[in-house]
Amino acid sequence: MNEFSVIERFFKSIASNHTDLVQQSIGDDAAVLAIPEQKDLLISTDTLVENVHFLKDWPAEVIAYKALMTNISDIAAMAGTPCSVVVALTLPEIDQQWLAGFSKGLNKALQQYQIDLVGGDITRGPLTITITIHGIVPKAQAVLRSGAKVGDAIYLTGSLGSTGFAVSQLASKSYNDSIFNKLFFPKPCVEYAEILQKFATSAIDISDGLSSDLAHVLKASQVGAEIEAALIPVSPLLEAYLDKSQAIEQALHSGDEYELCFTVSQANKAGLEQAIGSLKLPYYHIGQIQQDKGLRVRTLDGVVQPLSASGFKHF
Ligand code: ADP
Ligand code: MG
Repeated sequence: MNEFSVIERFFKSIASNHTDLVQQSIGDDAAVLAIPEQKDLLISTDTLVENVHFLKDWPAEVIAYKALMTNISDIAAMAGTPCSVVVALTLPEIDQQWLAGFSKGLNKALQQYQIDLVGGDITRGPLTITITIHGIVPKAQAVLRSGAKVGDAIYLTGSLGSTGFAVSQLASKSYNDSIFNKLFFPKPCVEYAEILQKFATSAIDISDGLSSDLAHVLKASQVGAEIEAALIPVSPLLEAYLDKSQAIEQALHSGDEYELCFTVSQANKAGLEQAIGSLKLPYYHIGQIQQDKGLRVRTLDGVVQPLSASGFKHF
């Protein structure tokens, strides 16, 4: 099989969702997207490297699915809606079984979120997957990291801790164990987009851990924050393995979560909670933006102490 038959068989064959924006998809030198006048285009890219982001023995279907979900999460964190992706694959060899699994996982994720695959690239080398995603958002409505203001309330969309714990269990538990569910099949928070556009002053997705990702918001917004350990929603899956304070510690630093952390002004708090509630989506108020720079946590004992970022860093 050559490069072109791989594209035909495993990628061009994936059904289109006929996104309005796509004028030309796979098969030309570039895809053509028509951006409506009242919209902004969001673009984000992520690379997954074997043994860094996934292990050799993970099913190809899981790798593809997770790769797409992490990209969708970046669009969700800007309060946008994903519309299309390009997928660049570096493969050590043409392994048809692996490619079939990859194509299946990719297809499942694309159909689930009505996204079109509009192009890509295939090269030979150590297994690496780069996905570039495109999303749209009403003009000037994208929610940035830099908008948090002193006094804003800080929220999370869901509980934390299970994915960080799952990573520590990869060598000792079967991949079928429920602890791996969120690690392998993350759920990006796309349903919050309109609410975030309307109410949020800043937003970020939790990919490296709350302690490091919230710190990025604080730095970009030139503010500080205090969060409360007692308010951090901890994954119920941790109960079987960790005591309460260990579980909170895990939740504060756990990466690969793809929950959103966002801020809302005091004036908009009630409106936001009502809007999220009417969509029956979860939300957790965990703290407040403050003038004093840096991130602090109020422990279960009521002591306020600095919370340093211990999320994943590549370099
Ligand atoms: P070029 O030489 O112009 O870069 P390629 O031969 O790499 O073109 O790709 C041919 C077409 O197939 C292009 O439209 C490209 O976007 C698409 N394509 C290549 N690899 C993939 C892939 N993994 N998934 C989807 N489309 C792909
Ligand atoms: Mg090419």
